[in-house]
Amino acid sequence: MCNPIYKRVMLKLSGEALSGDVGYGIDFDITKSIATEIKKLISMGVSVGIVVGGGNIWRGRSGKGMDRTTADYMGMLATCINALALQDSLEDLGINTRVQTAIEMKEVAEPFIRRRAMRHLEKNRVVIFAAGTGNPYFSTDTTASLRAAEIEAEIILLAKKVDGVYDKDPYKYSDAKKFDKLTYIEVLEKGLQVMDSTATSLCMDNDIPILVFGLDKPENISKIVLGEKIGTLVCKE
Ligand code: UDP
Repeated sequence: MCNPIYKRVMLKLSGEALSGDVGYGIDFDITKSIATEIKKLISMGVSVGIVVGGGNIWRGRSGKGMDRTTADYMGMLATCINALALQDSLEDLGINTRVQTAIEMKEVAEPFIRRRAMRHLEKNRVVIFAAGTGNPYFSTDTTASLRAAEIEAEIILLAKKVDGVYDKDPYKYSDAKKFDKLTYIEVLEKGLQVMDSTATSLCMDNDIPILVFGLDKPENISKIVLGEKIGTLVCKE
């Protein structure tokens, strides 16, 4: 018998996580493996919101010499491409999915309407929140914090390439130490690269825990929801 410890989760997938080893574009084997995990969550009765990044296609800071807001809007559009790819993989497995965008593009997806998103979630549909917050100078991590608060998610599952939060870059330093648990204040004070500070502060102010884990093993998603201790938990105390 599967007993999930959460009823509603917000899954944050970076764009990088969708691109696999190539580092650019979308690897459909990855979106399929993520969709398979999400299907497990839905069958356990867990409702799932997803915020997807866009870094595999474009990041605002890639636009050197460009107007920052234009570059950021390009980044927001990139998240929409990823959202549609993810929706396709989810629907391929028979999971009802809606994409809601913070920038209106109603021929492509629904606009973000919180009450509508809640209704979809109640009906066991996965809702993918695309186009970030709709504002330049923000990130999709901040979007995940904001939407998590709005949909009353109990936790943000923050999928990364690394399997948790370390005191230094584990790819560069073999003696890097992984944390099992951190407080929001520790993350901010130590300048740890978990989320940007805006996103971390928003989680802190609204008491939303963040679980940082490695997406190299997609099955981590269902394991976490079933209570297995994986990755690094960032919370109040
Ligand atoms: N972005 C933005 N406002 C938002 C969310 C995203 O301007 O509310 C832009 C920003 O330029 C960012 C890009 O979209 O670099 C892609 O998002 P992000 O870098 O967070 O994606 P990830 O690193 O998760 O792949």
